[in-house]
Amino acid sequence: MSDSEEFKIDLAKKMDSTDPLSHFKGRFFTPGDSIYLNGNSLGLLSKDAATTLLRVLDEWKNLGVQGWGIGENPWFYQAEKLGEKAASLVGAKPEEVVATGTTTVNLHSLVSTFYQPTEEKNKILADELNFPTDIYALQSQVKLKKLDPAKHLKLVKSDDGKFLDESKIKRMITKDVALVILPSVLFRSGQLLDIESITENAHKKEILIGWDCSHSVGVVPHKFDDWGVDFAFWCSYKYLNAGPGASAFIYVNEKHFEKDAALTGWFGDVKEKQFEMNLNFEQSRSAGGWQISSPAILGSAALEGSLDLIIQAGIENIRDKSLKMTSYLIYLIDNLLTEEPYNFKLATPRLPNQRGGHIALEHEEATTIHEQLMEYNIIHDFRPPNFLRFTPSPLSNSYEDIWTLVDSLRIIIDEKNG
Ligand SMILES: *Cc1c(COP(=O)(O)O)cnc(C)c1O
Repeated sequence: MSDSEEFKIDLAKKMDSTDPLSHFKGRFFTPGDSIYLNGNSLGLLSKDAATTLLRVLDEWKNLGVQGWGIGENPWFYQAEKLGEKAASLVGAKPEEVVATGTTTVNLHSLVSTFYQPTEEKNKILADELNFPTDIYALQSQVKLKKLDPAKHLKLVKSDDGKFLDESKIKRMITKDVALVILPSVLFRSGQLLDIESITENAHKKEILIGWDCSHSVGVVPHKFDDWGVDFAFWCSYKYLNAGPGASAFIYVNEKHFEKDAALTGWFGDVKEKQFEMNLNFEQSRSAGGWQISSPAILGSAALEGSLDLIIQAGIENIRDKSLKMTSYLIYLIDNLLTEEPYNFKLATPRLPNQRGGHIALEHEEATTIHEQLMEYNIIHDFRPPNFLRFTPSPLSNSYEDIWTLVDSLRIIIDEKNG
């Protein structure tokens, strides 16, 4: 190891030793002895989340059906209580957020409510870099209205397959658009869109806008109310660490509470009269009005502990550490991995306010490098054709993990060149 390399590992150790969030790492279970850098696909289990999950199992064991109504945490109110906790992460009022359904289903429910095409305004504007499930869902939503996705679903194109040009998005928000649906963070490159300014642009033209924040809630603070966002939805198994397939969330701005949900079910009923079981649906005038079925009590049990942990750490502190971590990773990439023979290319915006929580690297031999990194027990992901994604999670990773990643990438290339 040369002096400058020592400086780099020392720097990591120094940052860990002064990091106010470093003690949270011990509250997570890390699989095997791995370096886990895949929190943007599936966040890790914390002891806090395991505790609430096991508590709910006990409630089922000890209370049976009475768990809905009695005990310290009656299941009947779980979705709203989790909504209240999550509201503090996204700048919303408690009644504007509810834990319900799953991301794609929530997209369907919200878009079928908010997409009301007219003679003049009948298109949905989305983008070609969004997670494919969102686009599949939007295509079918357009078809449900007896319109043609080829004509009525406009997709903002990317020039390089990585980034979206925000001024182009704004130019494409034209009078014929009824609804805009965009992701907060692009899942490949990690580009964070300016939610506030794009929302403002859509509203100037009197167009509704909804955001898929699956790749940002839990690592980037949001201010939905201040920004006037119409609605949003997000999953909770990425940066919210609530477990595979955990209940997702919806946000509906209170200005829309009087709108009728397009897909109704008994859990959207006014809570006080839901169990009267008559045939007159009376929609709860809250985000809860968009619930359809019985909440997945077990599927959201881990969320409680996990949200408490995130709230305790503080979403602003989490963002602060996340940016320090991704900046450190970029610094190491620039210094150690971009030149011959390494040839990695940063595929994430350099400006901190344009980044979400992960870093993407491009490499011509990404497939083999991915396999070798897995042999080094560095858990990350590979997105064809040539993207490697790494998420240093502020609560469950250290700066030293980042150093180990970069050092391993370097060794992999060195060994290949023998
Ligand atoms: C993770 C993610 C999803 C996942 O959808 P599911 O319905 O939970 O499978 C959807 N959209 C985006 C943008 C995501 O990041």
